[in-house]
Amino acid sequence: MGYNATPSHDVHIKVAAHLAGLGFIGHNTQVITSEYGPRVRWIAVLTDAELEPDEPYAHDLCAEQPRCQERSICVKSCPYQAIIPGPSQGVAPGEKVIRDKCVVAHKFDKDLEDKWAKHFQQISNFGFVSCTICNLVCPYGKADG
Ligand code: SF4
Ligand code: SF4
Repeated sequence: MGYNATPSHDVHIKVAAHLAGLGFIGHNTQVITSEYGPRVRWIAVLTDAELEPDEPYAHDLCAEQPRCQERSICVKSCPYQAIIPGPSQGVAPGEKVIRDKCVVAHKFDKDLEDKWAKHFQQISNFGFVSCTICNLVCPYGKADG
């Protein structure tokens, strides 16, 4: 007998990844792993298959990261001081980053100011990448991390 399974966007993916033991929600609000840092992409699948549940991720990777002891690298790297210092886990979604200060919140601005525009990279006629500085600096998963 087969099982039903379907991808779902109706799951808080960061919380699900943590509870499934796959990673830790870092100070940059991304789910990070010890091997790849925030350089991972997540998808949730809803299924009626009977699965053995995992334990939540047990490590505080930010507290364990030697290079973030004095100050979180992701927090201090943000050019607009948009990230509120401290843990992300347990903080209500949307309350860890000051939205108006973050480049990503301005991606659809009608008259995009230069200070935001310089952090967007057009990669095709149809797509662009916005600021990812606070992800790229995370030592986990970096070649020199
Ligand atoms: S995406 Fe850029 S602007 Fe937004 S919090 Fe991260 S570093 Fe700051
Ligand atoms: S840069 Fe440091 S504090 Fe920020 S998510 Fe990575 S390990 Fe955590």
